[in-house]
Amino acid sequence: MLRQDHSINLQGSRVMDDSTAATVYGATHAPIPAPPDNRILAWIADAPGKPFERRELMVGPLAAEQIEVTVESCGLCASDLAMWRNQWQRSRYPFVGGHEIIGRVSAIGTRALGVTVGQRVGLGWYSGSCLVCRACRAGHLHQCQDLKRLIIDGHGGFAERVRTHWAWAFPVPEALPSALAGPLFCGGITVFAPIAEFVHPTHRVAVVGVGGLGHLALQFLNRFGCEVTAFVEPGAAVDEASTLGAHHVLPSDSSAADLRRAGPFDFILVTTAALIDLAPFAHALAHRGRLHVLGVGCAPLAFSPDVLMSNAAQVSASAIGSPGRMLDMLAFAARHRILPQVESFPMSSINDAFDRLASGKARYRIVMQAEAR
Ligand SMILES: [Zn+2]
Ligand SMILES: [Zn+2]
Repeated sequence: MLRQDHSINLQGSRVMDDSTAATVYGATHAPIPAPPDNRILAWIADAPGKPFERRELMVGPLAAEQIEVTVESCGLCASDLAMWRNQWQRSRYPFVGGHEIIGRVSAIGTRALGVTVGQRVGLGWYSGSCLVCRACRAGHLHQCQDLKRLIIDGHGGFAERVRTHWAWAFPVPEALPSALAGPLFCGGITVFAPIAEFVHPTHRVAVVGVGGLGHLALQFLNRFGCEVTAFVEPGAAVDEASTLGAHHVLPSDSSAADLRRAGPFDFILVTTAALIDLAPFAHALAHRGRLHVLGVGCAPLAFSPDVLMSNAAQVSASAIGSPGRMLDMLAFAARHRILPQVESFPMSSINDAFDRLASGKARYRIVMQAEAR
């Protein structure tokens, strides 16, 4: 059931801290007592790699600029696995993962904008930006110097409810079903942002790696109108890449000569973190072409800048995308029916789902579905 009365409880309240999210926008005053329902059922791990247990999490009052969302589904991403294991040395415990959330707005802080109670929204990796730094004022809220991350600065979507700053909640177009759309808010925006910024329909493009990110990139680039080549890991299914939108499919360990024959490419999107030598790909760039890297933990780039100088090519990298790009991505995905291919698990099977993701066999994303309380 939707909780529509929280915002009334908080009417006229002062700006307050959220003891879990630790996100304060504006001045901080003495906190007001937490409403009685500030306990949230969540799947919690108490230490790196420990199994998740379902129990209540105490959260403080809803901050003035936050909204609360009742979770319908939540994708399970490789970043959740890394965070659960504390691979990046920045996890906090008790840990609640999940940052690809679809749900309904159930409460709105007194100064939150842009959404209404009951509205279906999606949440992703970020949960707050300062809104005053240079990047924020330029509209690049995802490059803010004081970014909040949902599963680091608060708790994630493997819970009955979750909170975020209103600027990082996005209305979900009707054409995108809740059971599938979650991964668009992490993997989807990650691949779409550089495509929207750098790619033209006339481009010949390549996607290196056809996994959680790559299978979405192929769909977006095909609908953009590009000629698309997929470079799949040896042994991967060639026909799947074609079905997703690749016009040509080659192995990712193709020789430099084969790569040059397949190219030249105006845009090469590296979506895998596998330790692939990217030098042959740089040699396959077209005049003014771009090699764009998304895979976190990719092998160091090892090629001479001469490769780039000779044809005015560029190398770049990015993470996620701005709120504006998120809206564009959702509209484009809805128009072209672009959705991730997912394996669904009930939320109560969260430990099995983490095992499945760790096995590397999931095709292509995993989405956890909320169950009745
Ligand atoms: Zn993610
Ligand atoms: Zn900022």
